[in-house]
Amino acid sequence: MRTTHKGKYILAVEGNPPLADGGVYCMPGGRPFKDTLTEMASEAMAVIAWGSCASWGCVQAAKPNPTQATPVHEVVTDTPVIKVPGCPPIAEVMTGVLTYVVTFGRLPALDRHGRPKMFYSQRIHDKCYRRPHFDAGQYAESWDDEGARKGYCLYKLGCKGPTTYNACSTVRWNEGVSFPIQSGHGCLGCSEQDFWDKGPFYSRLSTLDPLPVEGDADTLGLTAAAVTGGAIAAHAGVSIIKTARDKKDAADARAAHEQDKS
Ligand code: SF4
Repeated sequence: MRTTHKGKYILAVEGNPPLADGGVYCMPGGRPFKDTLTEMASEAMAVIAWGSCASWGCVQAAKPNPTQATPVHEVVTDTPVIKVPGCPPIAEVMTGVLTYVVTFGRLPALDRHGRPKMFYSQRIHDKCYRRPHFDAGQYAESWDDEGARKGYCLYKLGCKGPTTYNACSTVRWNEGVSFPIQSGHGCLGCSEQDFWDKGPFYSRLSTLDPLPVEGDADTLGLTAAAVTGGAIAAHAGVSIIKTARDKKDAADARAAHEQDKS
């Protein structure tokens, strides 16, 4: 098949090859997975790494990674690799990527991590229907409190939506029926690299602290004012420097012109 369809087939890969001890921890057909993978990939148009295991290593590569499980793109280095992460990836995203390649005969635009931009360019948080509650400082504090019943934001219960890039909050799951946040559970960040090693699922992200509290409009306003004030001050500083530089350039140009005339 490889020689007959050289450069015309897509190799879709699930899982990842374990490299320790000669690859003996995954031996489909009696061969190390790594050998079959590199052989089949060598003449493919592209390789699609299905899911977080193939894209990042996922749970097999979680510390201490005794089998040396390795994501596909670190083993396949001479053929383009499209990452379609997720644990599992969304069915519509998978078919969408394949349909794009088959229809247009080229790879979709990829981000710097090798993920199709059309599905991974925004965070879950950017399109989450609970986002107005996040912006208003309305959070569920426990799984069965009043905030949870009202559908408040799940950030404080560990939602990783603000740092996770995927299409869950737009495409959703099971033909658009729902997705984890709509079912009352925070995003685990399963499509992000090393998500198993990035701390407990139910601890809030530390990078967004401190958060405004419900009803504290002054806090929100002061925060916004502080950010705006900082931006204005920074802009003013840059403007002063730029004006001084422009004046010096103009003086230099005039001096050069005078010299030319003389
Ligand atoms: S539930 Fe998660 S993704 Fe949705 S707004 Fe809150 S933090 Fe963001």
